[in-house]
Amino acid sequence: MKTYLIAANWKQNGTLKTLCTLTKNIISLTKKRKIRHKIVLFPPTIYLSNIFPLIRKSKNIFLGSQNVSPHSDGAFTGEVSAKMIKDINCNYVIIGHSERRHIFGESDKILSYKVAVSTSIKLNTILCVGETASERRKKMTKKVVARQLKTALLPSKNILKKNLQKLVIAYEPVWAIGTGNNATTKQILDIHKYIRYFLSKIFSRDYKKIKILYGGSVNSLNAKSILELDEVNGALVGGASLKSKKFIEICSSI
Ligand code: PEP
Repeated sequence: MKTYLIAANWKQNGTLKTLCTLTKNIISLTKKRKIRHKIVLFPPTIYLSNIFPLIRKSKNIFLGSQNVSPHSDGAFTGEVSAKMIKDINCNYVIIGHSERRHIFGESDKILSYKVAVSTSIKLNTILCVGETASERRKKMTKKVVARQLKTALLPSKNILKKNLQKLVIAYEPVWAIGTGNNATTKQILDIHKYIRYFLSKIFSRDYKKIKILYGGSVNSLNAKSILELDEVNGALVGGASLKSKKFIEICSSI
């Protein structure tokens, strides 16, 4: 039976109190609904240590950081290193989310450093890729996704090869994030197949170990049709992960 990875990206939302309550509700609903999929919660970094004690006994709920410094340590005011993230019992990190690329101007080069620091200490790395609306209109989707994959992954190819099961790609079309306008199953299938083909060129046969998630306006109504696609190994969920019942409906849709 296929087991999925469902990631909850809480972004810069909530307070310590509301996010602890959300976590507790997700834990209790996961037990009640006997969810067997792997759930990874991505609270704001500042709350990770408060949320860890709540999830520590859960077998299938893990914690991740929404961001990581591209540098391993040193004079980088305001940054949090991969080692620090690991130190506080976080196993996952999101790299290259479209909000980091487009709002904070993170370049492909910076993202390749982030992949390098994260994979070198064996954190599970979720690399987000995806095109903007105008890139899709210009039929540039595959070109953009190929560039994002190549620039982020190639410099770390040798380290990654040893731990490919720790690499996750999230296909997140920018136009689908937070808009209520999810990609169609045909669009998802097409790009996920392309991503697999591209990964096979970099990693040969071992590419099969890499999971590919879809993200972009996933909700309790569309989750099943997306998750049941052969090429989809899970979902990265933003808005709908801020309500425990809606999130658990997504997790139990398949
Ligand atoms: C995201 O932020 O990664 C995301 C997919 O958000 P939403 O589910 O709200 O579109």
